[in-house]
Amino acid sequence: MKDIPVKVIRSPRRRKTVSARMSNGELLIYLPARMSRREEREWVERMKKRMAAKRGRAPRTDESLMKRAEELNKKYFEGKLKIGSISFSDRQRRWHGSCSTLTGDIRISSRLKEMPHWVLDYVIVHELAHLIHGGHSKEFWRLVNRYPYAERARGFLIARDMEDWDGA
Ligand SMILES: [Zn+2]
Repeated sequence: MKDIPVKVIRSPRRRKTVSARMSNGELLIYLPARMSRREEREWVERMKKRMAAKRGRAPRTDESLMKRAEELNKKYFEGKLKIGSISFSDRQRRWHGSCSTLTGDIRISSRLKEMPHWVLDYVIVHELAHLIHGGHSKEFWRLVNRYPYAERARGFLIARDMEDWDGA
């Protein structure tokens, strides 16, 4: 396995959270500013392994996304939803996803490609639920919470400093 180039970024804003993402073929690892050098080395190794394992998996394509969305539609929405289209987008900077209730077109941030499948599923379910409810109402969350990992996925995304769900 080719070694992944790593760039460590220390942030005084971070206290405990560590995160990593790929950017232009480089693995960016965000660490709390106060972390020791020894801890840094450990985290770099851990994140490199994690990223290498992810890269070994099947790529996440728009086609696989549609398949997944249809499965989740069946499982949590009795297959009633009309999904216009669903694809990954690099243009979703702040948001995980977006959904047009008019056309049923869903866009999922490309960053989700690198996240665990249960987090990606959560974002898909979230956007699917917007096909029924435009805003974040009680009824909306009741739908989303049918997905058993909803709470866990929200925690995961908050820990990654990605607190904005979408434009809805
Ligand atoms: Zn939303």
